[in-house]
Amino acid sequence: MTTPMPLVIATRNKGKTAEIRALLDGFPLDIRDLDDFGPIPPVVEDGETFEENAYKKASFTARVLGVPALADDSGLVVDALGGAPGVHSARYGGEDANDKAKYLKLLAEMEGKTDRRAAFECVVSIAVPYGAALTYEGRCEGVIAEAPAGEGGFGYDPVFFYPPLEKTFAQLSAEEKNRVSHRSRALIELRSEFDKALQWIEIHMPVQEKFQCAGDAL
Ligand code: IMP
Repeated sequence: MTTPMPLVIATRNKGKTAEIRALLDGFPLDIRDLDDFGPIPPVVEDGETFEENAYKKASFTARVLGVPALADDSGLVVDALGGAPGVHSARYGGEDANDKAKYLKLLAEMEGKTDRRAAFECVVSIAVPYGAALTYEGRCEGVIAEAPAGEGGFGYDPVFFYPPLEKTFAQLSAEEKNRVSHRSRALIELRSEFDKALQWIEIHMPVQEKFQCAGDAL
């Protein structure tokens, strides 16, 4: 039996890791996350687009660990706020703000606004240690609720109302969210061409040099 190819999910966000693991379930990959490895330096997410940041995270992780890596960069894009928080979603309200502080800040910014349209956007990047990466995109449209509701999910889920199911993302079960979310849409795109992606990784992974040990048969 051949060993499945390792793929490390380049995030320490447990909510994201669980969603990505569930969405890649059943594929012949040895899925790891950063906690399976020792500490590695954090990547500076200073790109201006989700795509740039996803590539940076995946490529840096693949280079440091020497294995293929998958990273997602995602966030909430709110029309009435000119696209904010967007790529700054994780740091909205300051580096130390927790999820609740972030969505409360968003609700405060949205006070009195009648246009409450918003979308979660996600770019998934699969990278090898050097060179280009594969990119998949997903988007899910909804509206910003007037008040938080629900206990599930993470991040802005309690204030992201999804009209087709008439619930916030935090009121959905993990399975329901994984059927419609921005992240699942990007990963469904990856699943649709999974064989091609595996082949791409195999072709682009650097060949490991073999060392001859003194006792090895020639
Ligand atoms: P990053 O992709 O780790 O840089 O951060 C994305 C940030 O966007 C997260 O910290 C969350 O605040 C937010 N976000 C991304 N995806 C979701 C989601 O599925 N639900 C709620 N918030 C999300």
